[in-house]
Amino acid sequence: MKFLILFFLLLSALYAAHVENYRWKNNETYLLFLKRLHLPQKSLYYDLDKEDQKMTEDIRSGFNYQILYNDQDGSIEQLLIPINDELQIHIYHDKKGKYRFETIPIVSSTKTKAFMLSIERSPYYDIIKKTGSKKLATIFMQGYKHSLDFKNGIRKGDRLAMIYEQKYRLSRPFSMPTLKASVIELHKKKHFIYLNSDDRYYDEKGKQIEGFLLARPIPGARITSRFTRKRWHPILHKYRAHLGVDFGARAGTPIHAAGSGRIIFAGRTRGYGNLIKIRHKDGYVTLYAHQRKFRRGIHRGKYVKKGQIIGYVGSTGLSTGPHLHFGLYKNGRAINPLRVVQVTVKQLRGKSLRAFRQLKANYDQSLLLHLQNETPFQNEPKFERLCYCFDRNAKNIMTKAKNNETSTH
Ligand SMILES: [Zn+2]
Repeated sequence: MKFLILFFLLLSALYAAHVENYRWKNNETYLLFLKRLHLPQKSLYYDLDKEDQKMTEDIRSGFNYQILYNDQDGSIEQLLIPINDELQIHIYHDKKGKYRFETIPIVSSTKTKAFMLSIERSPYYDIIKKTGSKKLATIFMQGYKHSLDFKNGIRKGDRLAMIYEQKYRLSRPFSMPTLKASVIELHKKKHFIYLNSDDRYYDEKGKQIEGFLLARPIPGARITSRFTRKRWHPILHKYRAHLGVDFGARAGTPIHAAGSGRIIFAGRTRGYGNLIKIRHKDGYVTLYAHQRKFRRGIHRGKYVKKGQIIGYVGSTGLSTGPHLHFGLYKNGRAINPLRVVQVTVKQLRGKSLRAFRQLKANYDQSLLLHLQNETPFQNEPKFERLCYCFDRNAKNIMTKAKNNETSTH
């Protein structure tokens, strides 16, 4: 909570200021963003170290960011830009009136929520109709995609229930929700799925529901840096994020597509050097950075098969030596590739099966209760505009917001 209070109160003692909420524009780079807002590129980008510079390339379109304006002259006092679920960029005026850059943890809270609904048309359509959330419909469909055929199996009046986690930042839903467990009835038979402690989905029998089976981009390469959303660097005294895995390999070593999919980016970026991004099924995107060169014939729009060579290890961009930075994103959210890399579907056994059964028993109890009680979906409060208003004479922050009732039509 410390940082938020800092953000809100630092300036409130001096003069009135207010916070505006924005959405990061499609394809806007951090440098263009600074230019558009007339913020100094030198101190807020070029003077930063390589790692901080690279981090600015992880800002994604659709992220909500906040600007604290000085009400007296309309100037920007502070900025908060998330780079993943746990870390954000904080730009602020220091005592000398210069803009400074730092990374600070995101203060967020997580709520576990649940609802049930009776199917009228299709799970996807009805979840959106009921909740107004495409994200919830998406995570539900992704969960069952490989095990059930909704096209033929659904009858009007079949029911579903889901338990999920939603993160909140500045009292708004933030990031993709996580499906924890769900049940759907088809012809009166219930089908359950559960998110296990290993971050993978399983059916009632402890058999993994086939998800995305990734191959290693460089077979046998050693890992030189692991995935982390937020890490305190004890020597530099700052927070870092590493949204991927680094594989050490000699320059020129072939890089293989970790899965089949379409190339959505093949080109040069400042931080990641020669970069390829591949879009796969189920909302997955893989990223291959710092390449020396791409393989001939590899370009945007091309479909590649799992295991196909796409390029060669190099050290382009902000890199200290030849290596592959390999990133994995699901629905735009960075996830740890090493938790997903596998080639076969897993069946839980022994100790891990016993632990799973305990987790399953708890979820079953909740899910059946939600079906029985017909737990309704609870709307999120929707803020059209959020304003934190400061007054030097008042110690409290007042939150003004227009509260729109969510329409279910
Ligand atoms: Zn890396």
